[in-house]
Amino acid sequence: MNISGTAAPIAMAQPQARRSRQARIVWGSRVVTVGGGAPVRVQSMTNTDTVDAIGTAIQIKELAQAGSEFVRITVNTPEAAAAVPYIREQLDRMGETVPLVGDFHYNGHRLLTEFPDCAQALSKYRINPGNVGKGDKKDKQFGQMIEAAVRWDKAVRIGVNWGSLDQELLAELMDANSRRAQPWDARQVMYEALITSAIESAKRAEEMGLSGDQIILSCKVSGVQDLISVYRELARRCDYALHLGLTEAGMGTKGIVASTTALSILLQEGIGDTIRVSLTPQPGEARTQEVVVASEILQSLGLRAFVPSVTACPGCGRTTSTTFQELAKQIDDYLRAQMPVWRLRYPGVEKLKVAVMGCIVNGPGESKHADIGISLPGTGEAPAAPVFIDGEKAMTLRGEGIAREFQDIVEGYIARRFGNGAGAQ
Ligand code: SF4
Repeated sequence: MNISGTAAPIAMAQPQARRSRQARIVWGSRVVTVGGGAPVRVQSMTNTDTVDAIGTAIQIKELAQAGSEFVRITVNTPEAAAAVPYIREQLDRMGETVPLVGDFHYNGHRLLTEFPDCAQALSKYRINPGNVGKGDKKDKQFGQMIEAAVRWDKAVRIGVNWGSLDQELLAELMDANSRRAQPWDARQVMYEALITSAIESAKRAEEMGLSGDQIILSCKVSGVQDLISVYRELARRCDYALHLGLTEAGMGTKGIVASTTALSILLQEGIGDTIRVSLTPQPGEARTQEVVVASEILQSLGLRAFVPSVTACPGCGRTTSTTFQELAKQIDDYLRAQMPVWRLRYPGVEKLKVAVMGCIVNGPGESKHADIGISLPGTGEAPAAPVFIDGEKAMTLRGEGIAREFQDIVEGYIARRFGNGAGAQ
């Protein structure tokens, strides 16, 4: 066969290496690294009332079990600050070690000073430079929060948000812009204000004694192109570890698509060290959905592996029953539900690939590419479902109990392949 074109093989696309320096989040004897060569971490945020310590601890545990590696909680009142150490205590009692991030606005300087147990129980403080105070109070109150971070050896995220941008800084930059021979448009001034606010605040924190490796920056906006523009420039101007997220991403499909689009482009360029997907939960939807989406983004880009992946075909006119959709969902739900236990029992199981396919057209081929796959019968095909293990046809399932039998086969395969740490490499 003649192979035309150049002789060079086509290189596989790869996410670029992270560009930031490494940051460390310390609590007690534990340390989590962020940035540099560390894996991109998933963060989430509770939506419980922090004063409800038990309810908040339960939601934090759910988020952590879904894969969240940091959980942020609102600390907005003295009562919320007083609840923080109890929340930490509850989590420790449940064996849940996930680090907690306190989200402070307006009164963080007072809460961190007046509630030292809260300041200690948190692993990181989120400080919004636009909400630390106005006029001459701004520097003083920001300084008090940094002093608390230095005193308790805590990391901070300097989190700028265009919804609460430092108005004095924006006005200053607008003034300076009006004196330009060719003024920038208002959006470009806003980008500049976001980045300046984050970097200048970080520099002030370092001047006050906070180490640069305890600082993480974010500049959140709600437009995809705005986020890409701001973070590309932020990453160009500094090497602090960066937290990435589209703020107020929205509900359902819109929020998922917008976040995935923006985050994927930046992550592929090596920008972003922690991520959060800020979804508005639909009525009745679990808060953990934002963790699932964030993990899927990282897994799809090949940056992390969190759960075994299930490849399923979309279905078409060749398959008129919903059997394969139900089986794909059942297997996906089952694998996710088992992960908190399997992560410990079967190291490496998150790299498993399972295929659930609807008919003979792509079913056997796709199943052979997976570690374990099943090709269900399409309309008019013989009522038999061949199962492929490690690329070879291993058996054929028939009858009503296909779903249960396939689940047992998957579980047996996982135990054989990943039991006793055999699949950890
Ligand atoms: S594998 Fe079969 S059922 Fe699934 S999309 Fe392809 S042709 Fe349709």
